[in-house]
Amino acid sequence: MARVVQKYGGTAVTTPEQIKKVAQRIIDSYNDNNDVVVVISAKAGETNRLIEMAHETCPGQEGCEYDLLISAGEQVSVGLLALCITSMGYTARPYLGWQVPIITDSCHSKASIETIDPTKINRDLKLGAIVIVAGFQGIDRDGSITTLGRGGGDASAVALAHVLEAEQCEIYSDVDGIFSADPDICSNAHKIEKISYDEMLELASQGARGVQIRAIEYAKKHNVTIHVRSSFSTASGTLVTREDSTMEGVLVTGIVSDKNEAKIAVLGIPDKPGTAAKILTALADTDISVDMIVQNVSQAGLADLTFSVSKSDLDKATLITEKIATELQAREVIADKNISKVSIVGLGMRNHAGVAARMFTVLAYNNINIQMISTSEIKVSVAIHEDYTELAVRVLHEAFRTS
Ligand code: ASP
Ligand code: MG
Repeated sequence: MARVVQKYGGTAVTTPEQIKKVAQRIIDSYNDNNDVVVVISAKAGETNRLIEMAHETCPGQEGCEYDLLISAGEQVSVGLLALCITSMGYTARPYLGWQVPIITDSCHSKASIETIDPTKINRDLKLGAIVIVAGFQGIDRDGSITTLGRGGGDASAVALAHVLEAEQCEIYSDVDGIFSADPDICSNAHKIEKISYDEMLELASQGARGVQIRAIEYAKKHNVTIHVRSSFSTASGTLVTREDSTMEGVLVTGIVSDKNEAKIAVLGIPDKPGTAAKILTALADTDISVDMIVQNVSQAGLADLTFSVSKSDLDKATLITEKIATELQAREVIADKNISKVSIVGLGMRNHAGVAARMFTVLAYNNINIQMISTSEIKVSVAIHEDYTELAVRVLHEAFRTS
């Protein structure tokens, strides 16, 4: 008998018909001789609705009351799914996070799971029940409800798969798996059968959908195999797993783009120690994360510093930067929201020189200007004008013919 954790995202449980379908799928898996533990999300849009309600009623409030409210959508899904499974003649054991319990730290709205006590779930499985757990939520050591950050149901599922020693953590959503490029942009993009944790982390942080970043980090740490697959089909998806020797053969595994980028350039700053630190600290203090950073060589004692932030942070980031720029006596601040980031990711890059050069050559050949660059051992990202995003993805996919 195998043990499996299945996580269903909000789009799988939006209507009563969908909930019934998911229930049937869970039962099929159970009848296949599996121990099944299900982690469920709030229906699509529900968490956003609760967050909006909080902001409309009492703007600016966060903390334990806020988490108690925004975790409510998952309770509804657990209840509905358990009712459905029971009505189909099977034993369902529903749990909210605190009932398991899933113990977290007290960082409300972005709590980390510290421990999970598997005793009750193990007992239920032994008795032949299908266990259903509310994702996204836990309880801290003071007894307050916590939530695990947006998309946090994935983290709940991976952590449960780890403590329950499940064979696999299946993450069901509306994507069929992880693709070599967005199929809407690149018609010949293909589904990746198997990808390493590190590649998946890079792709997810550069904008790929499929699994929450923290869940991938957790899976990597505890060596939990994740199966990213669609709740609308029975085809297998992508396995996110430990690196093996076959993976290094491919230069570029995936290409991903992100239009949620914007650029701020601070021109003519006196070139002395501490200026970049001052600007970036002011942004970090207001929780704005900076992605790519470029500083040019100074001329006549003046330098330019350019960096990217997410589009949604641009207005706030520009105001803060302008204030510091005035203090630093910089000449000018220019904000540009028309940029996007295109990244190529692959383990094979570690052992092959010239991948970045090839990427830049392909972009240049297609007349796409590179505005900023950032790299890691297995990734090269460039910021370009937003209008060229799709073209860049297509020509790079073609050039690297990812397999
Ligand atoms: N319902 C939560 C969210 O929308 C958690 C999840 O879907 O995994 O962020
Ligand atoms: Mg969600």
